[in-house]
Amino acid sequence: MKYVIVIPDGCADEPQAGLGGKTPLQAARTPHMDRIAQLGVVGLSNNVPPSLTPASDVATLSLFGYDALQVYTGRAPLETAAMGIPLRPTDWAIRCNLVHVDQGQMRDFTSGHITSEDGRPLIEAINAQLGGSAAGWGFKGRFEFHAGVSYRNILVYRGDDAPFTKDTKTQPPHDIPDRPIADHLPQGPGGDLLRILMERSGPILASHPVNAARKARGEKPASQIWLWGQGKPPSLTPFAELYGKRGAILSAVDLVRGVGVLLGWKRIDVPGATGYLDTDYAAKGRYGIAALADHDLVCVHVEAPDEASHEGLADEKVKALERIDEHIVGPLLGALPTHGDWRILVSPDHRTTLRTRAHAHGAVPFAVAGTGVAPKGQPSYDEQVAAESTLRFERGHELMPWFLGE
Ligand SMILES: [Zn+2]
Repeated sequence: MKYVIVIPDGCADEPQAGLGGKTPLQAARTPHMDRIAQLGVVGLSNNVPPSLTPASDVATLSLFGYDALQVYTGRAPLETAAMGIPLRPTDWAIRCNLVHVDQGQMRDFTSGHITSEDGRPLIEAINAQLGGSAAGWGFKGRFEFHAGVSYRNILVYRGDDAPFTKDTKTQPPHDIPDRPIADHLPQGPGGDLLRILMERSGPILASHPVNAARKARGEKPASQIWLWGQGKPPSLTPFAELYGKRGAILSAVDLVRGVGVLLGWKRIDVPGATGYLDTDYAAKGRYGIAALADHDLVCVHVEAPDEASHEGLADEKVKALERIDEHIVGPLLGALPTHGDWRILVSPDHRTTLRTRAHAHGAVPFAVAGTGVAPKGQPSYDEQVAAESTLRFERGHELMPWFLGE
């Protein structure tokens, strides 16, 4: 049996006045997703336990069949795995966004979707001044700033005397759009250290030629780093051991492919995949089909609907869903039966509502079709149909064994 999972990140939403009272999933023309609903079954699953923050780390762990309450240690160590940066069990990884703060407010958690070419020298400058031995802070370890993709970078604390604990509280910058940062700074053990690093990054970035060039081009400068998502490396039972299937992950987002890599899935990089609205959807579809040849399970993740939500753009969210349907779900649905028995699952990880421009708790709609899945007579794949379904997984990690089961 071949299995495909397509994740339109953050696609689950609420009815929109601007879309004639429809949700983006209802407004989008998605004949292939609707065909999955008609051939199979639509249901609801909750990928984010109430005690955890709704984000792709916790939600994809659940979606991939792992109990986040048992295995989740933080977001940054998952991304660090995807970046190929080794962590020892006592090390801490901390997400380091390049953000644009203006007059004390979080104006852009992406610094205008800063390019990796611009981001790298900025992070290198910060590493030169704030990285290295932490002796000056009274610690035995060292700080390492690692440049990642676009605005997404990583700070590693190497040492067995890190001041952070489970009670260290940090705030995802994408969840505080246009809000005063003073209300959302790191708190708890080691929080003071994170606050000082964030503060000291400001003058280093302000005087950097890359930022001067960005301003001259009319682009947003990266005004400071924002530290959050800290954690020690998790220990996960490999997916092949737990479920007996060899998987592959196609995602442009370090966090999501990091989860895949930690489960033992093969990471397949797709040229033209950007993790943004302009991603090469058709390339994702083609590489997904190719990956079916030597994997039992292929997961294609697309970040675009989530990004559209964070920007509050309902039309772009609809467009992203239509492109995913046409260029990814359709071709995969066409290719799957050539491999014999097959099943497909379409599900977002978590909800991202246009109203708040932020992630939200709550169950998400999923659709499953394929060999051995009896049709339930549901007309389409959307929130309304899912809400009326009797198929529900309150514990989202129970969907995977059901999807893979007899
Ligand atoms: Zn998001």
